[in-house]
Amino acid sequence: MGSTVAQTESLLTSSPLVDLGAIVQDLAEVCRSPLAAGEPAVGRATLALSDVTTTLSEVARRRGDAASVQEQIREAMARAREALDSARRAIEKARRTRGRAVELTAASIRLRQPLRPPAQGPMLRSWTSVRDVAVACPRCRRRFTLHYEYRFMEGLAPRLVACPRPPCPGVLTFYCPLDCLDFVVRP
Ligand SMILES: [Zn+2]
Repeated sequence: MGSTVAQTESLLTSSPLVDLGAIVQDLAEVCRSPLAAGEPAVGRATLALSDVTTTLSEVARRRGDAASVQEQIREAMARAREALDSARRAIEKARRTRGRAVELTAASIRLRQPLRPPAQGPMLRSWTSVRDVAVACPRCRRRFTLHYEYRFMEGLAPRLVACPRPPCPGVLTFYCPLDCLDFVVRP
């Protein structure tokens, strides 16, 4: 297209060419939108612009009189500008529609929340882990069980456990979860 512009430069005042450059830039900008791909208006703007360059190259070949040539080019450019404007509007509309769709999705998610089963109760119960750990007294070597429950493993803390068989003075250190519940020593 650069060479076409150079060939017809003598036939034209500089302003329509500057204008064409601006239209090309604007179209490139519109096409950068991710929404441009599926927009027929963008396709029409691209066609209108290629119509301008076709007109320019025909003009260069025919070398008609300057006045009618300028008129032709002005018309083609007006069509391109118009097509570009509707492409812009279409993109803007698509953007708004998509924004609204995102809003609607968020709203419907918010609306659905209360319909879900309550998170407390059964859910929390199912997250509770129950453990029965077999240990042995360090003194009498007899085995016994440590029963405990916990919800979230946030870390371990040492706990001193006395041998459940008196008079054995044995004590062992057991590491159990920080938020450990229902800790029971079972002989
Ligand atoms: Zn013991």
